[in-house]
Amino acid sequence: MFVVPQRPSNEAERLKFLFSCGIFDTEKDERFDRITRLSAQFYDADAAFIGFVDDRYQWMKSVHGGGIAPWADRDQTICQIMIASGEPLVIGDLQSDPRLEGHPALPHLPFRFYAGVPLMTEDCITVASLCVLKHAPQPAEEFELSPLQDLGAIAMDELELWRRNQDLRQLAETDSLTGLANRRAFDAALERTWRRFQRTQRPLSLLLVDLDRFKLLNDCWGHQAGDEALRRCAPILSEAGSGSEDLAARYGGEEFALILPDTGGAQALETAERVRSLLTSARIPHPYGIDDLVTVSIGIATLGPESAGSPETLIAQADAALYQAKQQGRDRSVVYTAA
Ligand code: GH3
Ligand code: MG
Ligand code: MG
Repeated sequence: MFVVPQRPSNEAERLKFLFSCGIFDTEKDERFDRITRLSAQFYDADAAFIGFVDDRYQWMKSVHGGGIAPWADRDQTICQIMIASGEPLVIGDLQSDPRLEGHPALPHLPFRFYAGVPLMTEDCITVASLCVLKHAPQPAEEFELSPLQDLGAIAMDELELWRRNQDLRQLAETDSLTGLANRRAFDAALERTWRRFQRTQRPLSLLLVDLDRFKLLNDCWGHQAGDEALRRCAPILSEAGSGSEDLAARYGGEEFALILPDTGGAQALETAERVRSLLTSARIPHPYGIDDLVTVSIGIATLGPESAGSPETLIAQADAALYQAKQQGRDRSVVYTAA
């Protein structure tokens, strides 16, 4: 009876690396497709694939040829053996190999021959496998493994590049002080959500959140204290949004923004009030006033089905509302109105 192999001892690190790649469920990619194509051609195989294995599934980044499902339960795969062992695996005849006796996938597989190599990081973490499959059996000892190992190494290099690009993208879009999206990421996200608004005609709201009398805090307690206050405000912005597509950003010096897709004016005002109430609970000290706590003024603008505004209009309107909030005495939210 086939026994599901134990998780490797570095399973936690393995998953951490895998998730840091952000590769699951991404689109077809020629950089990986050319490797499976070459592998199948070189070995005259009927199919080849590169499959990533997380805690529950094997997901195919690239498949060449037919008869391979886009994903499978991890425990139902043959590749899990390589994930556990970190060793290449060549099976001359899947239907008669004692190592696979009773394996749940065998009755459904249109293949008899299997050869695979693990894709491994420098720290010997196996994250994926590159495999070739044939309909007909073939003696395992006749299989020349080293070209498949070379192709597997190329696939691994592609994955490393992929991961580093991901890191760079993340870095280029993150504000280093607060960890929120920076202005550049904000601009791109607003443009994106605005295009979506045009397509769906579901309302789109924007909050501009400006710290009150922040210059005074800097002047009294120094720039570092100011930085610390900004750092403490940042997570409140992320927390206040309730939609999965909401984006909190550092818009400028002591000004934050919250993009709220699929959100009308009333709900946006609720979110703004939630920002203010969370901020009150956070009790971030400020040298001014009775309570001596950091407060914010918030300008809110919404594009609805009848409004024909651009992203720039939305920003200008939120900014005008923010100005009103400051004029009316700060520590409040104001919704933009044309009047
Ligand atoms: P208001 O209530 O009208 O918004 O008053 P304010 O003092 O907050 O507004 P003002 O625009 O006059 O001052 C903003 C200050 O924010 C000035 C600037 O030195 C400070 N600031 C901008 N970026 C940073 C930063 O990264 N760190 C620190 N510590 N201060 C910053
Ligand atoms: Mg400001
Ligand atoms: Mg301010």
